[in-house]
Amino acid sequence: MTPLDSMNPAQREAITLSPDVSNIKDILIVAGAGSGKTRVVVNRIAYLMSEHRVHPGHIVGLTFTRKAAKEMSARLTRMVNAGRHVKLCTFHTLAADLIRGASSEHIEIIDDTDQKRMIKNILKEKDLLSTFKPKDFIEWLSSQRNQCIDPEVALESDSEDITLLRDIAKDYRTTKRNLGRHGVSDFDDLLEKAYFMLRDNEGIRKRIQARWRYLFVDEYQDTNTLQFRFLELLRGPRTQRCMVGDEDQLIYAWRGADIGYIMRSYFASLKSEETHCVMLNTNYRCSGSILSLANAIIAENEQRTGKELDAHKPKGAPVQVCEFYSPSEEGDFVAEWIEDHAGRNIDYGEMAILVRQNRLARDVERAMIKSGTPYVMHNGVAMFDSLEVKLLMNLLLLAHMPSESFYLQGVLSSIKVGVGVGDAGFLKYAKEKPPEQDWLSFAQSHKTLSKKSNFIDLLHFVDQAGEHLASGALEIAAQFLVREMDLMRFFKEEERENRSETVNVCLQVMNDYEHEASLRNVKPNIIDFQEQRLLNDALVDKMERGAVNIMTVHKSKGLEFKAGVILGMEDGVFPSGNPDEFFAQDFEEDRRLAYVAITRFMENLLVTRSRNRVGFNTMGGFSSLLDHHLAKLEEKGYVALE
Ligand code: ATP
Ligand code: MG
Repeated sequence: MTPLDSMNPAQREAITLSPDVSNIKDILIVAGAGSGKTRVVVNRIAYLMSEHRVHPGHIVGLTFTRKAAKEMSARLTRMVNAGRHVKLCTFHTLAADLIRGASSEHIEIIDDTDQKRMIKNILKEKDLLSTFKPKDFIEWLSSQRNQCIDPEVALESDSEDITLLRDIAKDYRTTKRNLGRHGVSDFDDLLEKAYFMLRDNEGIRKRIQARWRYLFVDEYQDTNTLQFRFLELLRGPRTQRCMVGDEDQLIYAWRGADIGYIMRSYFASLKSEETHCVMLNTNYRCSGSILSLANAIIAENEQRTGKELDAHKPKGAPVQVCEFYSPSEEGDFVAEWIEDHAGRNIDYGEMAILVRQNRLARDVERAMIKSGTPYVMHNGVAMFDSLEVKLLMNLLLLAHMPSESFYLQGVLSSIKVGVGVGDAGFLKYAKEKPPEQDWLSFAQSHKTLSKKSNFIDLLHFVDQAGEHLASGALEIAAQFLVREMDLMRFFKEEERENRSETVNVCLQVMNDYEHEASLRNVKPNIIDFQEQRLLNDALVDKMERGAVNIMTVHKSKGLEFKAGVILGMEDGVFPSGNPDEFFAQDFEEDRRLAYVAITRFMENLLVTRSRNRVGFNTMGGFSSLLDHHLAKLEEKGYVALE
């Protein structure tokens, strides 16, 4: 492990606190960005294992992103070899594990695009597509569920719209239950199911509680009600919890995270014997200039514990703030800036471009392609969201479940084989088909469908791919479909080369998966593949090394980069919203988001804005978060305006 004398006294105290739960029930570490919170968590785990001989199977550490979990795991394993047996994962992964532990079934998880498509179908059937956007419904549903409110229970105060939303929620639940072999789960289902399982099943709860003796939660500030209650159920009478967070970095209020949890825990810890609170006040990550900018912005917030954060590092280079006429000019400059820093011996992989929304990065992408700068878009499931991979996945899922119209519908919505997904065509057949019959035999015996030779061919290929799948040959099944169906002919000629490359990467990922599944003694199958890729980044991680990271600020939480860019810090983008309504908006969450973004960087930071930006409600490049600080910071040399 890292020697304790490389820690400051407060960090050392936190790492070596008594592991005896009768002395300390909860440890709460509240501290600013880059102060070593995650470092303390990893070192305390190593300390418990090496000094107190705690078995790795008794420790669980939860965090918010898969990338952060992987990073912690890597750091821990470097310190103690047995660290790789410690479960460090996201809430969702732990939830999926708990459910799987209680039943041998694979959980079929649907991703966001499938969820959206399912909801679109429901809205269409109910003739509500002009009333609600699928996205609005998904956000409403998720916020209800994350606040532990049953979305289907009517209240007297319900408006007409809410009554409709409750209705849609009911249909959505039924649709999920009827899909796949044993129903499918969305992401919120995982946590919800695990929570209900622990709450309602004393036997399972006691077993789990006895297992986890040390429970760590990083980024505790972002827990929502469901997660908070889940954490309560995970802890048994002999479990010591260590919660680590920073109220200034709460950026998921829009998804139900409640600042009250960390604030209440903090104020309660001041009076409580059972909770030990540690504060860390030194930022080791950022240059003095970068930290000064972050501190200036966050100081304006009111909901704070009032902790201080000083820079350990010297002032360094000033933060560059640059304004451009257009996003295209901005993109060119950013690509140049990155190349310039790469020339100064900063690895591409140690740089990041943070955006408020992925679509802001388009011009940067264009410029980086032009300059040949390697980059990777971390938009969660980018590759799996591309049309070609989505098509391939739907074909494989259909091959696995040949009677399932949902996946066939997915296929038909992206390619033309003489049967359309529209009401008149496919949906009519879908209603006629007995639910258990596979599509091939139904189509062959159907008067009209049997004449659609392209459609029948498609089903034949899918049928054959199903045989490969049944023998556990996922990649071969995929290759078979790509080759035999000549998948690329469904796309425009000028797109084929790129799309074909994406498909090849996907095949490579499947190959890696098969290898990894064999290590787990699992026969490779498409459902498990789907689960692994949604819950575990390891599969797609390979592509990320040596490339500039483009990601949203939300995704960047907990990470650090040597140098990089915050793109589009201007009213209407960051802070987001409609500038005409800013008078009614408090910027607390936007400031926290800016604070998170700025404190990701160690040495060099460029902040950009553009006077024009099509598709956003912007107002000439000014930022309500930033501009009134600039003169003072520039005077002190922390910022350079260009
Ligand atoms: P965030 O709030 O962004 O999650 P954090 O508080 O978890 O940040 P860490 O990521 O643990 O902070 O640490 C930030 C950086 O500072 C890391 O590079 C870490 O190695 C370094 N660091 C932390 N403590 C020390 C120390 N005592 N001496 C030297 N470097 C340190
Ligand atoms: Mg951290």
